[in-house]
Order: sequence, then C-alpha cells, then structure tokens
Amino acid sequence: MTVHRLRELGVIHPGWEGRLLWGGAPCRDIRGGCTDRALTIEWIAEADGQSIAVSIPLSRSPCNYGGERTWLLCPICRRRVTTLHLSSDAHNLACRHCYNMTYFTQNTDDMNRLHAKRDKLFRRLGAKGDIDRNTQIPRRPRGMWLMTYAQIIGQIRATENALDAAFLGMVPAAILERCRAGAPS
Ligand SMILES: [Zn+2]
Repeated sequence: MTVHRLRELGVIHPGWEGRLLWGGAPCRDIRGGCTDRALTIEWIAEADGQSIAVSIPLSRSPCNYGGERTWLLCPICRRRVTTLHLSSDAHNLACRHCYNMTYFTQNTDDMNRLHAKRDKLFRRLGAKGDIDRNTQIPRRPRGMWLMTYAQIIGQIRATENALDAAFLGMVPAAILERCRAGAPS
C-alpha cells in the first residue's frame, strides 16, 4: 500500500473509518480507522484465518511548495516510508528495508515498548509533534538541570541501542554475516 493511494482514497484523514479492498492480497475483511497520529488496519489472513491488527504511525513534514507531506512510519523499524508491503502469509506489513533485513517474529511487543519509551523521553525534553528515528534530540529545556538533561540523553541512547539490538535480534545470523562482510543485502 502506498501513502499516495491511501490519500486518494481519503483514508489518511482523521476520523476516517471503513473498509479497504486490496486486490490480489492474501487477506480479506480489511478494515481500518485513522486518527491524526496513526492509521490502524485490521485484516484476516487467508492462509490460516488469523486476525491481524497493525498500527501505522503517521509522520508529517513540510513541503517545498507549502503544505505538508504525510509519511507512513514502518510498524517494525519506524522508518519514514511511502510504501508498505504485505508479507506473503499476510501476517506482517512492513517496509522494503525490513523485508530485506528482517526475520519476522510474531511478536514485536518489545520494539513497540522501546519506541514508546523513547518517545516519552523526547517529550520530557519538550519535543512536540511526531517523533521518529530521524527526530533530533531537542536542546536542553530552559530550567532543566544539566545533570537531568545528561541523564535523559543517556536513557535515550540506551533505548536506541536496545532498539537496534532488538531489531538485529530479529535478523537471521546468515544475513547478519552477509552484512558484516559488506555485501549488499
Ligand atoms: Zn521497516
């Protein structure tokens, strides 16, 4: 699914709720809802009848010609992307990078928890709006102790390291070896 097509269909609109058709996809009964922060999509995988729900955070950036551009954040790695792909078993929706790199486990709770923790630390530093992996750490807020600021930054770094470790933990060893060897993945 592309952000462009979703916009055309009026899906990327706070308050949207409805059904989607995805021709040829190995899933059925796709339903969704959109807020100003995220698009949630549920579907049933045809192969095993499992029902799946995915929340896709939305991110906005200003356009050169005015207005703003909407991005989808990949539910797995939180990269800003315009296209998400459904896995062949219809169990996962993720960006191209994840399909190249990642061995999917059924459970991405750890990563969701870490992303939420990182967001919270950014908010403590006064970050507003959308937060993703491209967001810069804010400057020290007025009135915050230098020590407190340093501690929060330390916690952000630790969370990012844990996120990277969790992400790499999902990658099969063979692919990691290939990456280390410097071959394109
Ligand atoms: Zn991804």
